[in-house]
Amino acid sequence: MENKIIDESKQGEVLVMDVLTSSASKNGKKLFLESYGCQMNFADSEIVASILMKEGFSTTSNAEEADLIFMNTCAIRDNAENRVRQRLQDYKKIKRSKPELLIGVLGCMAERLKSQLLEEEKLVDIVVGPDAYRDLPNLITQAETGQQAINVILSKEETYADIAPVRLDKNGVSAFVSIMRGCDNMCSFCVVPFTRGRERSRDPKSIVKECQDAFEAGYREVTLLGQNVDSYLYSGGGLKKEILTDEQKANSVNFAQLMKMVALINTDLRVRFSTSHPKDMTDDVIEVMAKYENICNNIHLPVQSGSSKVLEMMNRGYTREWYLDRIAAIRRIIPGCGISTDTISGFCGETEEDHQETISLMNQVKYDFAFMFMYSERPKTLAERKYKDDVPEVIKQKRLAEIVALQRQHSEYHTRKQVGNITKVLIEGFSKKSEEMLMGRNSQNSVVVFPKGNYKRGEYVNVLVTSSTSSTLIGEVV
Ligand code: SF4
Repeated sequence: MENKIIDESKQGEVLVMDVLTSSASKNGKKLFLESYGCQMNFADSEIVASILMKEGFSTTSNAEEADLIFMNTCAIRDNAENRVRQRLQDYKKIKRSKPELLIGVLGCMAERLKSQLLEEEKLVDIVVGPDAYRDLPNLITQAETGQQAINVILSKEETYADIAPVRLDKNGVSAFVSIMRGCDNMCSFCVVPFTRGRERSRDPKSIVKECQDAFEAGYREVTLLGQNVDSYLYSGGGLKKEILTDEQKANSVNFAQLMKMVALINTDLRVRFSTSHPKDMTDDVIEVMAKYENICNNIHLPVQSGSSKVLEMMNRGYTREWYLDRIAAIRRIIPGCGISTDTISGFCGETEEDHQETISLMNQVKYDFAFMFMYSERPKTLAERKYKDDVPEVIKQKRLAEIVALQRQHSEYHTRKQVGNITKVLIEGFSKKSEEMLMGRNSQNSVVVFPKGNYKRGEYVNVLVTSSTSSTLIGEVV
């Protein structure tokens, strides 16, 4: 996901969650919550905070003073899980001085490993999968009696639609709103279908209400989240889209319609979304983006590989030609739309020719931004069962380095092209480098920094871009 702030799978930071407005603890207990991985996990941590604050917990950003430490984890790659295991070692010291401290592992690593995690990590008291957060109060009570507590049951219905998340972001401007859970695609390299279960779409009324509440609370941007937002389809009866009649489909709400409903909340509320899937992205989604100014002109469209042979082995469900047709549709309907992607280097059986097809596709598309990885074999995935992880590590690294270098050129090409333009920016806060400068993003999701003047977070300003780096536009308000 394009937001590099929190994405563990994108080598990002780990985010310590502390409620913007810390509340007094009703049960005198404090929760320290760390979130790893993608934005979906971040949004889930806000649900966890909401459930526990109802139980009287308050949050703290200091692990030493916590009564309960929760790590909401990612399982997308080996290193994501290794980081959690390392972090557990840090907590060993705290637990030694505070034996009543409870430690819980939540999220995808918990779901992937289940009770094995309790056997391997004696420090861990509670293990909870992404669909079992409602059971947290009960599991905590269980663990407080000294028993190990676990719930990793995946659900076909759970969307937490009735739970208002407690916002844990740092800027109070941009909020994540999950619109669906799980994934029905079985990309051969991916663990998500095993850790997040079958796909289910959330009631659009509860999504619109959450966005409305966010706007009234001062947020000026929402990012609609799903593993594959293009297959969002709410039919009311929880019926699977495969068995819906045409009439039921006609009465259902699809992603394009949902985006329109959210865009109509207020023209000052920007709408972003992630993640799209090339095989399901339709023109009507792109047309709704073009019609509403407050739906941002930015699409994250993971390609993974430029070789149709490799795409077939990845079970991605589209070919190089189909993908390029989707890119052409975006460029035709929204000229200047920001496009980002994900790529995997060194997938099973990838030849130098296949790699060159990824390079040539990147040259053809020229992405604004990309998240680029080496293939990391994951247990129990289709690829692990069917294919040999036969591309040597040194070749994977060489190919990844070539792709990273090429993407840097393309990112620079796009930011340089914006010099001299005036672009509308939503202010998110101070720039990382100086408190004299403010930062925000434009509709294409480019980061823009400019002198702070008397402007404030959450305001929209027009910025004349005067210079650029490969990742940032620099300018002044006009
Ligand atoms: S679409 Fe593919 S890569 Fe994305 S979450 Fe689903 S299975 Fe994983």
